[in-house]
Amino acid sequence: MSKSVGDADDPLLVSVRSGAKFSMPGMMDTVLNLGLNDDSVEGLAKQTGDERFAFDSYRRFIAMYARIVLDLPGEEFDSLFEAAKELAGTTSDAKVPVELLRYLVDSYQQIVERHTGAPFPQKPDEQLRGAIEAVFRSWNGPRAIAYRDRERIAHDLGTAVNVQAMVFGNRDDNSGTGVGFTRDPATGTKGAYGDFLVNAQGEDVVAGIRNTEPISELKKQFPKVHAELTAIFDRLEKHYKDMCDTEFTIEQGKLWMLQTRVGKRTGAAALKMAVDMVRSNDLGISKAEAVSRITEDHLDSVLHPQFAGSGYETWAKGLGASPGAAVGRIYFTADDAAAAAARGEQVVLVRNETSPEDVHGMLAAEGILTARGGLVSHAAVVARGWGKPAVVGAEVLRLGDHTVTAGEVMLYEGDWVSLDGGAGVVVAGQVPLTAAEPPPAFATVLSWADEIRKGNLAVRANADTGEDAANARRLGAEGIGLCRTEHMFLGEDRLPVVRRMILAHSPSDEAEALEELRLVQREDFLSILEAMDGLPVTVRLLDPPLHEFLPSTWELAHKEATVGLTPEERRLYDAAMAWREANPMLGTRGVRLGVIKPGLYAMQVRALMEAARQRVADGGHPIVEIMIPLTVTREEMALARRWVEEAVAAANAEAAPKPTRRGTKAATGRGVLEVSIGTMIETPRAALRADEIAEVAEFFSFGTNDLTQMTFGFSRDDVEGRMMDAYLELGLLPRNPFEVVDAGGVGELVQLGTERGRSTRPSLKVGVCGEHGGDPASIDLFYRAGLDYVSCSPFRVPVARLAAAQAVLASGPRPGAGATGARKRSSRATSG
Ligand code: PEP
Ligand code: MG
Repeated sequence: MSKSVGDADDPLLVSVRSGAKFSMPGMMDTVLNLGLNDDSVEGLAKQTGDERFAFDSYRRFIAMYARIVLDLPGEEFDSLFEAAKELAGTTSDAKVPVELLRYLVDSYQQIVERHTGAPFPQKPDEQLRGAIEAVFRSWNGPRAIAYRDRERIAHDLGTAVNVQAMVFGNRDDNSGTGVGFTRDPATGTKGAYGDFLVNAQGEDVVAGIRNTEPISELKKQFPKVHAELTAIFDRLEKHYKDMCDTEFTIEQGKLWMLQTRVGKRTGAAALKMAVDMVRSNDLGISKAEAVSRITEDHLDSVLHPQFAGSGYETWAKGLGASPGAAVGRIYFTADDAAAAAARGEQVVLVRNETSPEDVHGMLAAEGILTARGGLVSHAAVVARGWGKPAVVGAEVLRLGDHTVTAGEVMLYEGDWVSLDGGAGVVVAGQVPLTAAEPPPAFATVLSWADEIRKGNLAVRANADTGEDAANARRLGAEGIGLCRTEHMFLGEDRLPVVRRMILAHSPSDEAEALEELRLVQREDFLSILEAMDGLPVTVRLLDPPLHEFLPSTWELAHKEATVGLTPEERRLYDAAMAWREANPMLGTRGVRLGVIKPGLYAMQVRALMEAARQRVADGGHPIVEIMIPLTVTREEMALARRWVEEAVAAANAEAAPKPTRRGTKAATGRGVLEVSIGTMIETPRAALRADEIAEVAEFFSFGTNDLTQMTFGFSRDDVEGRMMDAYLELGLLPRNPFEVVDAGGVGELVQLGTERGRSTRPSLKVGVCGEHGGDPASIDLFYRAGLDYVSCSPFRVPVARLAAAQAVLASGPRPGAGATGARKRSSRATSG
C-alpha cells in the first residue's frame, strides 16, 4: 500500500481489532480510522480528492476513540450527528455535507476536551497505544465476561490484538461493506448469505442503525464483486472444510476481505451442515468430524423450545436446571397451579423449593421456578426427568403473600413470566418462543454417534414410569440405569401410603401399608419393563430422604398456631416431629431405611419379580438389575443382598403367572428369572472400600449427586443458590461440581472405586446415574475412568449419546471395543 501511519500527506489509516480464539460477536471493542489527526485529515482529503469522505472518517474516529479508549458516553456524539443530519435535511449518513462534518469534528474534539481536560490526542503512536490497550481491556469488560460465562469459554485464554491497514467502504457509492457467511447460519442452507451496506463502514452494519441489503442484491449492484466473493467463499469452505463467516469491504469497486473465521450457527443449521458436508459432492468431511462439530447447545436448541430472539431484560437469575423455555402465569402453590392449568391457563409454578407434595403442580406447570435449591434438588431432578424447563435457586426472589419480588419489581399471582431453563434466566412478561422440532439431520448425526460409541460407552436413562421409559427409549436410551422407586410415590394418591408405611406404629400397620405399596409398584414395574423390553432395567430400592416424604413440620406448626390441626394432621405432625432429622440427607436414607424396616425391600423385590415374571409369561424379555442405595460397607450390602436373593428365590418358586394377553403362548417351565444385584456407590467410604463391596455386588452405579455432596461436604439442597456464585466468581472452583463432575476429587473417587471394584471382580459392570451422567465434560471423564455406561434423564439421552461418541473420539476406542477386554484400561481419569 506504500503508505505510512502518521504521514500527513498520504496517511495510512489502521483498524485496531481483537483476535480472540473464539468468535465473541460484538463483545470486544474495535477502533477504526486510527491515524487521522487535524493534519492528516487534510492529506487524506487531498489524496482521495474527497473532502467529505476524509472528514466523515475523522468524525467517526473521534467518536469511536472517545467511547472506547477514553470511556466517554456515546450519546453526546450521536445526538450531535443526528442534529447535523436534521440540519442538512437528510436521513442518510452519507449525505451530510462537508461543512457540517468539519463542524462536527470541531465539536467532537471539544466534547473530548471538556470530559478529559486534555485535547484529543493528535500523535498516531499515542492513538495506537491507547487503542491497543483498550481492545485488550475489553476482554475483561462485563459484556465479554458474561458472553464467555454463557459460552463456557475460559477467561484466562486472552486475546490477540490485530492492527490492520484500512480500506474504505465509505469512500463513495461505488464502495460498501458487509458481513457474509458461506452458508445460511440460521438454517444451514447452502449458498452465500449475509448483508451489506453501500457507502458505509463495518460498524454501521453491526450497529444495525441503517437497513442493510441481502448479499443476493450485491449481484445486481456489484456483479464482478459478487462473482469474486462467491469464489472466495468456495475457497474458504474448501480450506476450512466448514462454514465460514467473513467481513468484507468494497473500496471503489475493489473487494477486500478483512476477516474470516469458522462461523457460529444455530442448532438446526449445525445439524444440517454436518450431514450435508459428509457427502462427497459437498466437503466430504468424515462422519466422526461431523459428530465432533455438534454441541450440547445445538441439540438442546432443537429438542426444547427456546426464547425467540435475544436482548430480553432479566428479571431474576438462578441456576439453569432443566433446559428449554417456558411462558406462563405465576402461581405459588401446587394446588393453585394445578387449578389454573385445569382452567386452561399456561402456568409457571413458583416456590421457595419443591417437595413431593408439589408434584401435581409441577406436572401441571409449563415451567418451574424456585428461590432455593441446587442442580440436584428435588425441583431440578424432577423437572429434568420430565423435560420441563426449570430455574432453581434464584436467591433474589422474595416470596410474599401471593407476590414475588426480585429487586425493585414485584409480580402478583397471575402475572406472566418467561423462563429459560438452560441459561437460568427469568424475564417478567411473555417472551415469544421458538418451536422444538428436531430436523431429520438430528437422527442422522445421532446414529453416527451411536456407531462411534458402540461397544465403548452405553447410554441409559433415569426413568421412573412406563411413560418416561418409553420416551427415553424413543430418544435412544439402551436401558434404564436408575429407576428411583421413591419417585413412583410422588402422586397425590400415593404419598399418604408411603407416609403410612414410614410412620406405622405397629407391625400390622406396617404390613398393611407395605401390601398397598406392593400392588401399586407391581403395576408400575410392569409398564416400565414393557417399555424397556429386552434392555436392562436397574431398579433402585427405596431411598427416600425422609424429609422429602413427610409433611412440612414448619407449615403444620404454623397451622397449629393459627387455625389449628385436624386429628389426622395432628397425628402426622407428631410423627413428623418424631422422625425429624437435623440433617436428613445424612440420615435415615437408602439401605439404612431397609435395615430398620426389613420388610420394605423384600416387598419391593416381590413386586418387581411378579411384574418381571408376568412379562415373561406375556412373551417379553425383562432384564432386571436390582440396586441397593447408599451402601457404605460390605456387611450392609451382604445383608441387603440376602433379602433380595430370598425374595427372588421365593418369587421364582411360585407357579408361573398366566399370560394376560390373548394369543400369547404360556411360557414353558416355571419362568425362573435371573436378576443381578448391585449397589450404588455414593459415599467416599464406599468408593475407597469398593474392593470389599464388589465381593457381594455384581455391578456398581456411581451416584455422583450424593458423592459430590459428601466429598465436598456441600449440602446438595443448600449451597448452590447461596454460595456457588461467589465460589465461581472468586475462582475457588472452576465449575459448579453438581453440574460438571469435580475431576480432582469426585472424579478420582469414581476411578479409584472402579479400579478397586474390578480388582476383586473383573467382570464388574460399572455405570453412573447421578445428574452428571448427562453432562458432556463429565461423560468424557467417566469414559476415561473405564465406566461401561452413563445414565441420565430421558431428555438428556441425545446429548449423552453425542458426548459419549465425542469422548471415544477424544481418547480412542477401548482396547478390544465391544468386548469386556476394555476393562483392562488403566488410564487415569484425571490429574486435576
Ligand atoms: C445420586 O446420588 O447421584 C443419585 C443418583 O441418587 P439420588 O439423586 O436419587 O440421591
Ligand atoms: Mg443418591
